[in-house]
Amino acid sequence: MSRDATLPAGWSYVIGLEVHVQLLTRTKAFCGCSTDFGAAPNAHTCPVCLALPGALPVLNREAVELAVRAALALGATVHETSVFARKNYFYPDLPKGYQISQFARPLATGGAIDLPDGPRIGITRLHMEEDAGKSVHDKYAGATAIDLNRAGVPLAEIVSEPDLRTPADAGAYLRALKQVLEYTGVSDCSMEEGSLRGDANVSVRREGETGFRTKTEVKNMNSFSGVERAIEAEARRQVAAYEAGAAVEQQTMLWDAARGEVRPARAKEGSHDYRYFPEPDLPPLVVTAADRARIAAALPELPAARRARFVREWGVGTRDAEVLCADRLVADYYEAVARAGGNGKAAANWVTGEVLAHLNATGTSIAAYPVTPQRLADLIALVGAGTVSASAGKQVLVRMLESGDAPAVIAEREGLVQVQDDSQLVRWIDEVLAEHPAEAARFLGGERKLQGVLVGFVMKKSKGSADPRKLNQLLGERAGG
Ligand code: ADP
Ligand code: MG
Ligand code: ZN
Repeated sequence: MSRDATLPAGWSYVIGLEVHVQLLTRTKAFCGCSTDFGAAPNAHTCPVCLALPGALPVLNREAVELAVRAALALGATVHETSVFARKNYFYPDLPKGYQISQFARPLATGGAIDLPDGPRIGITRLHMEEDAGKSVHDKYAGATAIDLNRAGVPLAEIVSEPDLRTPADAGAYLRALKQVLEYTGVSDCSMEEGSLRGDANVSVRREGETGFRTKTEVKNMNSFSGVERAIEAEARRQVAAYEAGAAVEQQTMLWDAARGEVRPARAKEGSHDYRYFPEPDLPPLVVTAADRARIAAALPELPAARRARFVREWGVGTRDAEVLCADRLVADYYEAVARAGGNGKAAANWVTGEVLAHLNATGTSIAAYPVTPQRLADLIALVGAGTVSASAGKQVLVRMLESGDAPAVIAEREGLVQVQDDSQLVRWIDEVLAEHPAEAARFLGGERKLQGVLVGFVMKKSKGSADPRKLNQLLGERAGG
């Protein structure tokens, strides 16, 4: 974050994040209803998720697999036995009157996320739960409607330790967590569709204080930058309260992105208010050691390991490695280019530069990028060999987006091939020396700084097609090596 999010002098942040992530299953957590996004309201409902009397939940094993995968990828300890519980509260979009969650015995505890170039953030717990439905307030002439398509959609809740110390770290934590969840296929992490939601727990304290003060929970952010801004706004509100001699109440705050403000939503319940008790309709969830070993063995290479390997194996800078690995498909693409051409650094320059610029400008994904890794590697080789200049190479790439032709064919067709032929270059050099006798005499007499001027003359004569590297080499030889 480039903005300066420092607090008034002498104050510092304490932040812990609770992230809800939708597990990428085809069906809901406890029934066979579809989890597809965007269906007509209440199209994906059945007696179980409508909470009709007598309907019984059956746990979706696919959701368990994904939650275990997430926990293992975060280095958490997955417990052999965890227990579903009822979290009781009334809300119109919660037809059962309780949410099935895990409380006293969560699926997993421990684990951590190492922020790139930053601190290690501990994971407190990861548990499974179901999502609630949605109240629709704005669509039906003043009435509130209920859509239960999301009711019963499987979620993992991932709770961090209060280890975060700046809003920017909170943003970095969310990005790193999202990467892990995407790499492992646990979730599509779409914030627009609500499949990744982050709530921030925020307190402030005087620098040097070791204990924590009262925290508030800030909700309703729908972007990572929103989370960062909300944390800053809430922390500033708390500092102002303390400096005015007031107290900070434990409560839930709502972020208003349009106003850049937080406002109180409700007094925060303590967990005892929810009257948690073990869900009588579901047996304890057992994840055996064999299950854990099988799921661990199938984990893909994770983002941090991949970044480190790109640096080590392909000679990529750490900043480029971060950019390349932010998206698994971009990292795959990059690695295919590097493998096809053998030049990891050049491949990194092209992918972080031209390729990502194109994706950003067009709002498209690498999956739809028309240039295959092999073709890009071929282009990089042409530039490396001096057959086309770096800037001509960029023009060739633009043409490659429109046609499937090989870069060499395009360069030829567009007249972008550099002249590397010695005899042609020597002819141009001779002509230039003859046309500029004064400069020629000084250059041949030892004034090497004139070489650039002469190269410029030849480039002009060749209409930009001379290979400047070759040209410099030949001129250097003329001047006596
Ligand atoms: P609650 O019961 O209110 O949900 P928890 O102890 O479960 O509280 O913590 C929830 C989240 O709040 C965790 O992410 C934790 O790291 C964070 N947290 C706990 N205490 C503080 C504090 N004083 N300041 C900021 N965050 C905190
Ligand atoms: Mg909580
Ligand atoms: Zn259902």
